[in-house]
Amino acid sequence: MKIFLEGEWVDKSKKIEVRNPYDHSVIDTVPKAEGADVEKALAFAERGAKVMAKLSGYERWRILRKAADIMAERNEEIGRLISTEEGKIIAEGRGEANRAVETMMGSAEEAKRLHGETVPLDGDPGGANKLGFTLRVPCGVVAAISPFNFPLNLVCHKVGPALAAGNSVIIKPATDTPLSALRLVEILLAAGLPPQGIQCITGSGGEIGDGLVADPRVRKITFTGSREVGERICRMAGIKKVTMELGSNCPLIVMPDAHLERVAAAVAATGYANAGQVCISTQRVLTAGRVYGDFLSVLSPKVQALTTGNQLDEKTKVGPMVREADAVRVGEWVQEAVAGGARVVVGGSRQGAIYAPTVVADVKPEMKISCDELFGPAVAVTPFNTIDEAIALANQTVYGLGAGIFTENLEWAMKFAREVESGNLHINWGPQWRADLMPYGGLKESGFGKEGPRYAVEEMTELKMVVFHLTQ
Ligand code: NAP
Repeated sequence: MKIFLEGEWVDKSKKIEVRNPYDHSVIDTVPKAEGADVEKALAFAERGAKVMAKLSGYERWRILRKAADIMAERNEEIGRLISTEEGKIIAEGRGEANRAVETMMGSAEEAKRLHGETVPLDGDPGGANKLGFTLRVPCGVVAAISPFNFPLNLVCHKVGPALAAGNSVIIKPATDTPLSALRLVEILLAAGLPPQGIQCITGSGGEIGDGLVADPRVRKITFTGSREVGERICRMAGIKKVTMELGSNCPLIVMPDAHLERVAAAVAATGYANAGQVCISTQRVLTAGRVYGDFLSVLSPKVQALTTGNQLDEKTKVGPMVREADAVRVGEWVQEAVAGGARVVVGGSRQGAIYAPTVVADVKPEMKISCDELFGPAVAVTPFNTIDEAIALANQTVYGLGAGIFTENLEWAMKFAREVESGNLHINWGPQWRADLMPYGGLKESGFGKEGPRYAVEEMTELKMVVFHLTQ
């Protein structure tokens, strides 16, 4: 595919090969953009922001709504593309394609709802005869930098609200999975988006990222990715609006009254989807000592049943990781835990980029598989005695994106919701659950700012205060 730069599809002699993670075959190539391309994109986007700001809410709604309709019609093709470039199983590829339709539809609705409010200035001692209201205006140029693991829906979570708010957008998709983002650009143009409103450049983030995020013409950065890259972007960004959706090592607390079959089903569903490469994957299963052995017995067969293989085979439950190096790293972390006294109860083997769904028991909090973001198909099980101990363990991390608890006890559930330091809290399900309309984002080093169209449009706009100084 080509990149979309300065209102045109552009090819370049330097290419990046996009490979299927399962068999390493080349699916396509994309141009390798360089610093000069970033400069072109920025200058064009600055002019594009003026074009976008002139579109009415109705026009922005119509474009996004039409894009959602096209995406819905092409669901199967788009789902297959996601699955092929990313490695997630085809059912998950289709699921992501469906979710992306909802994200674009939700964004379209927000284009009609952007509003300010009147401010009762006469409540101020000097405010008599003043009339005040706020206006929401677009930021201008938005840089949208996305990760590999949801190559379409996470791009939509940035592009949809940014366009709904009347900005021009420069997308920088992950180098491993750039094709879905380029397909989205094609669809937006077919839906009537002015070409000035969007650009998509592919190339190494390490090489072109600084030039993009540090430039003062960019007024808003929306980033989803690792904590390390997020921190670098924050340092480089200077004075501009920034949203950071970063990683985590999400805990799930299993209280002694939990229904163990339901917990095991939830762990099997939320710990291994997309081969564990989900920012809210269940990673640390903190289990009450009283039910610890029983829980492992109920969980093991459910994880053993997760068959691995080619992600495009309908029977496969867990596909390859995006890169073989990541599967190697997961294996090393599991081995490090075993060397420290943990036990592999299920899995623990690797074949190329496929790491077998794994359960590691007796994990200590200081082991990498517990305290770092694993981002792979393994869960770490750790015992606890009291709810206070469980909450302390859950909070013993720099991250705070998602957490879950299984209990029938309302007091415990509410204590969990109040005291666990996490942006998303689930009672009687694992942390890996998201409705695209909900406010979604992390606490602590999992980031700041919220996604979900209703919340993201606020992040994509500036608030102006207008005051009429009346005489009577
Ligand atoms: P990553 O390595 O941080 O890359 C994310 C994006 O940043 C890619 O497009 C990458 O480009 C780009 N990038 C790299 N260096 C850059 C720089 N110096 N300046 C600007 N951009 C730069 O993350 P990933 O491996 O793709 O994704 C996995 C991570 O994303 C995990 O930590 C996961 O938890 C997190 N994540 C968080 C959420 C959330 O909602 N909180 C959702 C999904 C994923 P290249 O690909 O060219 O390097």
